[in-house]
Amino acid sequence: MARYTGAVCRMCRRDGVKLFLKGPKCFTDKCPVEKRNFPPGQHGQTRKAKIVGYGLQLREKQKAKRIYFTLEGQFRAYYEKASNKTGVTGELLLQQLETRLDNVAYRLGFAISRRQARQVVRHGHVNVNGRKVNIPSFQVKVGDVIEIRENSKKLVILEGGRDFASGQTTPSWLEVDRDNFSGKVIALPKREDIQLPVNEQLIVELYSK
Ligand code: SF4
Repeated sequence: MARYTGAVCRMCRRDGVKLFLKGPKCFTDKCPVEKRNFPPGQHGQTRKAKIVGYGLQLREKQKAKRIYFTLEGQFRAYYEKASNKTGVTGELLLQQLETRLDNVAYRLGFAISRRQARQVVRHGHVNVNGRKVNIPSFQVKVGDVIEIRENSKKLVILEGGRDFASGQTTPSWLEVDRDNFSGKVIALPKREDIQLPVNEQLIVELYSK
């Protein structure tokens, strides 16, 4: 699966908000949004067009895509699936993104960012219900137990993830055992559990045109 490998802070500056893609750096004054809150590029400081209508919808979609490191095709597939289910489409869309294995690994404190969590999963360090799963987009379900494989528990990046996560709020839909690098999904995330700067309704409006 293809993925974006460029500089991530550009994405936050493009959207004018912190998307928290880098982990600890996002909470310091070294964050480029704190220092240079204007779009990247030669004309970033001079061209300030007012964004309305389609532009606003597009920006919201881009933000969600960037936060979860998904590409357009996959993101669109999440939307299609959400719109075919009973319920509020925007919430179901976010719920699918939130229950991706790489995001859950991040929430459980296995890494300092979603991007790093994706790598932890991709490199085969994570078990789901006792079996290795190395697919970042794998969808976890209620009752699933997610843990770091025994031989991987000595990885240095895991310590960093645990230290970082201990300063963050643990989502109420997850049960976390930080000492053993494991956790369990005890409920599906609701909208209020997903504290992200995204207006999902605008994404739904964009795709339902
Ligand atoms: Fe970079 Fe994080 Fe700041 Fe975004 S919030 S610009 S990823 S440091």
